[in-house]
Amino acid sequence: MSKAEHTCEKRVFTNHHRGLCGRGARYEHEGRWYCKTHHPPTIEAKNKARLEKWKCKWAAKNKARERDKNINTRRDELEALAIEHKDEFWAPGEDPLRIKLSDIGRQLAELREGE
Ligand SMILES: [Zn+2]
Repeated sequence: MSKAEHTCEKRVFTNHHRGLCGRGARYEHEGRWYCKTHHPPTIEAKNKARLEKWKCKWAAKNKARERDKNINTRRDELEALAIEHKDEFWAPGEDPLRIKLSDIGRQLAELREGE
């Protein structure tokens, strides 16, 4: 590649003085020349990519928060059901799932009383 014929026209502030970037410029934009770092469309594309990445992260966080909320709601429903049925008598040989629900309900009720 040949040496750039233009220098970057981006105004910069370095070492306590203002000036132009001055690096070799290969990118033209609206009549001015820029190095890759200061080429406005390149900067815009980078910002856009960063924003998209951030949006993805945000969406994932939101989804996780929504899932946790749903889990908590279902847990509350299960707890309410277990507590509601805690005093029902299940004879041996009855549905083990119902016996378990009754056990859990009793234990939950005890724990909540202790709060
Ligand atoms: Zn530059």
